[in-house]
Amino acid sequence: MKLLEDRIKKDGRVLSEHVLKVDSFLNHQMDPVLMQEIGKEFARLFEKDGITKIVTIESSGIAPAIMAGLYLNAPVVFARKRKSLTLTEDLLTASVYSFTKNEMTEISISQKYLSKKDRVLIIDDFLANGQAALGLLQLVQQGGADIAGIGIVIEKSFQQGAEKLQQLGIRVESLARIMSLSDGNVIFINEKVEETVK
Ligand code: 5GP
Repeated sequence: MKLLEDRIKKDGRVLSEHVLKVDSFLNHQMDPVLMQEIGKEFARLFEKDGITKIVTIESSGIAPAIMAGLYLNAPVVFARKRKSLTLTEDLLTASVYSFTKNEMTEISISQKYLSKKDRVLIIDDFLANGQAALGLLQLVQQGGADIAGIGIVIEKSFQQGAEKLQQLGIRVESLARIMSLSDGNVIFINEKVEETVK
């Protein structure tokens, strides 16, 4: 997605060979117009898949997920990372190792928001080693729902997440795919392909 790639080039900050900071438009301050375009793109990619529910994880998955839900006309449920006092219903839970926080977190969704009749699209902001996506997948499976695929805003393709998910037969659609963050530069996969073709 060109708009997103241009924005990453312009405003993303490479913190290390493995971490990209996008706090000015996705992870802290959020750009609603960009989020809207992201939602439209996910909707275009999954419009024929009969999505009845979108599942994401708090907090940075919520903005792209809600926009996708708007255009796919499906409700959005986010997994919580901390137990809420008001969340007293039967819970679906999974343990997730957090890439950025370097710790295990228990994530949960109330059972009543996922059913066997659901066809789910999982959405998240980043895909690194796939722990968050695999945790969300476990919740969807515990709820007995069907999985249509995973939509990712920024995939770091040099890490293992996409491959792991694809090996499980899961469709992964990433709007920006980063091949490398070496030397403080963001290089997208399609940039490399274009260079080879020239
Ligand atoms: P994974 O579970 O795939 O290893 O990592 C994905 C999760 O870690 C995402 O939900 C995201 O919040 C966070 N994450 C992973 N890599 C990055 C990164 O380079 N930058 C930011 N801002 N978050 C990341």
